[in-house]
Amino acid sequence: MQTGKIGVTSENLFPIIKKFLYSDHDIFLREIVSNAVDATQKLKTLAGKGEYEGDVTDAKVVVNLDTEAKTITVSDNGIGMTAEEVEKYINQIAFSGANEFLDKYKDDANAIIGHFGLGFYSSFMVSEKVDVITKSYKEGSQAVKWSCNGSPEYELEEVEKDAVGTDIVMHISEEEKGFLEDSKISEILNKYCKFLPVPVIYGKKKDWKDGQQVETDEDNQINDVAPAWTKMPADLKDEDYKNFYRKLYPMGDEPLFNIHLNVDYPFNLTGILYFPKIKNNFEVQKNKIQLYSNQVFVTDSVEGIVPEFLTLLHGVIDSPDIPLNVSRSYLQSDSNVKKISSHINKKVADRLHQIFKDNREDFESKWDDLKIFIEYGMLSEEKFNDRAMNFFLLKNTENNYFTWEEYEKLVKENQTDKDNNTIYLYTTNIEEQFTFVEEAKNKGYDVLILDDVLAPHLINKFEQKYTDKRFVRVDSDVVENLIKKEDTTKEELTWEQKQELSPVFQAVCPESKDHTYIVDFQDLGENSSPMVITRSEFMRRMKDMSAAQGG
Ligand code: ADP
Ligand code: MG
Repeated sequence: MQTGKIGVTSENLFPIIKKFLYSDHDIFLREIVSNAVDATQKLKTLAGKGEYEGDVTDAKVVVNLDTEAKTITVSDNGIGMTAEEVEKYINQIAFSGANEFLDKYKDDANAIIGHFGLGFYSSFMVSEKVDVITKSYKEGSQAVKWSCNGSPEYELEEVEKDAVGTDIVMHISEEEKGFLEDSKISEILNKYCKFLPVPVIYGKKKDWKDGQQVETDEDNQINDVAPAWTKMPADLKDEDYKNFYRKLYPMGDEPLFNIHLNVDYPFNLTGILYFPKIKNNFEVQKNKIQLYSNQVFVTDSVEGIVPEFLTLLHGVIDSPDIPLNVSRSYLQSDSNVKKISSHINKKVADRLHQIFKDNREDFESKWDDLKIFIEYGMLSEEKFNDRAMNFFLLKNTENNYFTWEEYEKLVKENQTDKDNNTIYLYTTNIEEQFTFVEEAKNKGYDVLILDDVLAPHLINKFEQKYTDKRFVRVDSDVVENLIKKEDTTKEELTWEQKQELSPVFQAVCPESKDHTYIVDFQDLGENSSPMVITRSEFMRRMKDMSAAQGG
C-alpha cells in the first residue's frame, strides 16, 4: 500500500470544490458518467488506430446504486488507468487528461467531453470517500485501487480486477443521503445523460405484470446514443424531427417547424431549434432550449447564451465549445458563447427566409403563430430586423399577406397624405372597428391587421426607420384628410349644429364628451355611414400607451 499527498494547491481547493464549485450537487453524476463515456471513446479511438486489440463494440457505462452499502458506483469498460496515470490524472487537480489526450489525437478524438480537470473531484461534493478501481488497457497492466476521503491524503494499492476499465465507487455522505434514492438517480440520469453517445445502463427494465411493476432481466438503457441533432439533416424526415420533439417535450403541442443547426467552422455547433405553437396572448414558456456539450446536458437556462428573443424557441443546442464546468456568469461572458449567440441569430433568420422562399403558402399559413417570435426578434436585435424585413409579413383585412416591399408598392399610389407621406391604415380589432374598416375599404383604401401585443412597438419602430410612412388606425381623423383619387364631398358641421347634435353624439359615443373625438357628417353614397366619429391618432396612441403602462 502506498499513501501520498495530492498536489500542492489542493489543500485549499477541496473545501471550495465541496461547497462552491457547483451550486447544483446533482452534477457529480454527470461528471463521473461523462468521464466513463470519455474512457470508452478513448479506447475506441485507440482500437481504431490499431493500438488496442480487444473488443470495443460493447462499450458501455453501468450505474449501480447500493442502498445498503450506501454507494453509487459508475463502471465502464473504457481505457482504464495504470498506477502512474492515476497519480497523474486523479491526483493533480485541474490537470486535464482529456486535454493531453486531445493534443495527441487531435483529429479523431473530437468526441471527448472533458475540458477542465475538476470534473472528477465533484464526486466529493456528495461523498465521504471515493474509490477508483481501475485497470489499464495496456498489455499486462496491474489493476489498482485509489481511495480518498476528501482530505488531501490518498491511498493507492494493487487489487484484483479482470476486465479493463474503471469503477468509481462513491460512498455517499450522511448529509447527502438523498442521493441514495432510486428515483433521484433516475431523475439525474434522465436530465443529464439522456443523449450520451455510449449506452448508459441503470438497473433493469421494468414491466407491468398483473397490475404490478416487475423487473425484467433486460438492461435498462437510459439514453439515446444517436439523438436527431447528431445526424445529418438529409438523413432526417419531417416525422423524425417531430418524434424528437416529442422525446424532448412529451406533453408539448406539435411544433410549427424546425431549424437544424449544423456548423463546423469557425466553431462546432449542432442542434435543432423548434418554433413552438403559441397562443395569441404570448403564452409561451421561456427557457425550453437545452444546451449540450458533446451530448452532455449543461443547462436549460439559456438566457445570455442565445439571443433573448430566441429563448422563446424550443430544442437543443450542442457545442463542445461551450465549457461544461463553469458558472453561468462565466458562460455568458465567454467569447465562444457570444459568437455562438450571434451565429444562431443569423442562422435562424436565414432559415426562415429559406422557408419563406421555398414554400410561401405554408409560411403564410403559419404566420399568425410565428409572427410573435419574429416581431420580438425585430424589436430586440437590429441585425435580425434587417434580415427579417425579407420575410416579415403584413396581413390585411382580406387575409392577404404582403412583404414590406410588396405592400409599399400597393399603397404608394393611393394612400398618401398632404405631406406626401404614405399612410398605412390598420385596425387593432376588426370587430370593434368594423364600420371604419368598411368605410376605408369603400373609399378604396387597404387596411392592415396589426392586433398583437407587440404591434404598437413595431409601428413605432417602422415610423422611426421609414420617416415617409405613417401608421394610422382606421378610426383616426387622418383617414378623412387623405388625398383620395376621387375626392368626395364632405359637409362640415357648424359649431351651432354640433351643439345641437351633441346629445345624439353623446348617446352614440359616450366618450365624445372629452372632445378627443371628432364627429363628421358625410355623403359618400349608398354604402357608407352618414356620420363618422373619429379621433386624433396621436391622442389615441398616447392614451393606449398610458393604459398599457397601467396609468
Ligand atoms: P476531465 O474529464 O475534464 O479531463 P476530470 O477531473 O473529470 O477531468 O478527470 C480527470 C482525468 O481522470 C481524466 O481526464 C481522465 O484521464 C481520468 N479519468 C477520470 N475518470 C476516468 C475513467 N472512468 N476512466 C479512465 N480515466 C478516467
Ligand atoms: Mg471529466
